[in-house]
Amino acid sequence: MNVANDKKVLIVGAGLAGSDAAYYLAEKGINVVLLESKKINPNPAQKLKTSAELVCTNSLKSTVPTTAHGLLKREMKALGSLVLKIGEETKVPAGDALAVDRVLFSKKIEETLNSHPLIEKKDCDVDDPIERAKEFGCSYIIVATGPLTTPNMESWIQKYVSDDDFYFYDAIAPVVDADSLDFSKLYYKDRHKELREDDVEGADYLNAPMNKEQYDEFIDELASAEKVPAQNFEELKYFESCLPIDTMALRGKDTARFSCMKPIGLEDKEGKRPYAVIQLRRENLLGSSFNMVGFQTRLTYKEQLRVFRMIPGFENATFNHLGSIHRNSFLNARKLLSDDLSCKKLPNLYFAGQITGVEGYTESASTGLYVAWQIERRIKEQQVKKWPLETGLGALVNYVMTVPKPSPSNINFGLLPPVKLEKMRGKRSEKKKLKKEKAALRAEAVLSDFFAETSLYN
Ligand SMILES: Cc1cc2nc3c(=O)[nH]c(=O)nc-3n(C[C@H](O)[C@H](O)[C@H](O)COP(=O)(O)OP(=O)(O)OC[C@H]3O[C@@H](n4cnc5c(N)ncnc54)[C@H](O)[C@@H]3O)c2cc1C
Repeated sequence: MNVANDKKVLIVGAGLAGSDAAYYLAEKGINVVLLESKKINPNPAQKLKTSAELVCTNSLKSTVPTTAHGLLKREMKALGSLVLKIGEETKVPAGDALAVDRVLFSKKIEETLNSHPLIEKKDCDVDDPIERAKEFGCSYIIVATGPLTTPNMESWIQKYVSDDDFYFYDAIAPVVDADSLDFSKLYYKDRHKELREDDVEGADYLNAPMNKEQYDEFIDELASAEKVPAQNFEELKYFESCLPIDTMALRGKDTARFSCMKPIGLEDKEGKRPYAVIQLRRENLLGSSFNMVGFQTRLTYKEQLRVFRMIPGFENATFNHLGSIHRNSFLNARKLLSDDLSCKKLPNLYFAGQITGVEGYTESASTGLYVAWQIERRIKEQQVKKWPLETGLGALVNYVMTVPKPSPSNINFGLLPPVKLEKMRGKRSEKKKLKKEKAALRAEAVLSDFFAETSLYN
């Protein structure tokens, strides 16, 4: 293919996103300079010297097309993902999931990048990507430095890109499955808003009230429960507005009651104000799960299950995911980036991977492909094109670009527009399964039309 281009792309970070972006661009005939810091300044989670290191589990999650991860993988494959190609070559048995031999996986990615004629890979802890782009004669930059971006680069981002909109911790509140709650003990109501008898489910918040005795006991258990110790690279410095619920419990009996468990404006149907309230906010458009507002926590998973099941209505609660707090650098994409994930202040500089506010290996790699795809269009003088919301990648990028309070997310069906089912009888679980199948089929059809419409070569 003849790509008339004298443009070079600088990529900072040869992790999941950076590796996939580099390979995509190079395969399209675009020159890439790839700079990676780990040999000079490895972070404490890194054990290997090679690219695209999986720092924790070796699983890239499900490959089944009717799961959200499977759907995203299908789209990444369509874009020629190196991560998935090598993932297949180095896979180990893991049922429906794609799990890999992490050492071989990283080694093969490294070899592929090193041997590609259009990729120049160098060791460098980048402290100023604009200067490095000048040095290597690059017109575009992708910053894909991940959740543990080096301090040099963090300072640069803070100074030139983000102002105060760069986060250093990921405080994840637990998400509880709606099906597992006892709704007879809960009530819908938004703070200071009248309850409308005819439309209580129209309220945004579901509330779990507590009396004094229940609250006191709950706070005591939160304070004494076992916590996950911080990693050696994680200093325990929290934003005051984002304190873990267990830290609040340690600060004093009433701290939570004057913060996220405040009952004011949440009087129940009889007009009675509870002593304290746990507020739950719909996590997705389907309302199949609820976020426990302000309940980010360092409690171990086992202790979270024990303590949270003390909440009235939560006796049999199951969780979509539990709470956590960990070191994670990410931007407020909605404020700082454009739809193609380029920086509003510096339009030739793009961000990809976890630093954009997605979470997970596959999700990070997929945004590397997304940005590379957008840069290829730009080099070929095509307009920025948003991906359709019905696709996994479109839904994921839409999430980071619209979520009011940034909170990194994995891909899940709740990010896609809901699908409607014809009226049918049957179990809830069957309907849920059918909805996922429909959403997956819809994504496939929409993607095929989108590629036909945006093809650069017809
Ligand atoms: C401790 C930990 C455990 C995790 N566990 C999982 C898990 O089990 N499953 C999962 O799906 N996700 C997990 N994640 C989340 C995340 O999805 C992965 O970290 C993923 O690798 C992110 O991809 P990325 O490409 O954005 O960043 P990374 O894969 O981290 O790649 C970023 C690269 O940039 C390099 N770099 C950083 N700063 C510079 C600089 N200034 N100059 C040059 N290079 C630089 C780094 O060395 C690194 O190689 C974990 C994250 C952490 C921190």
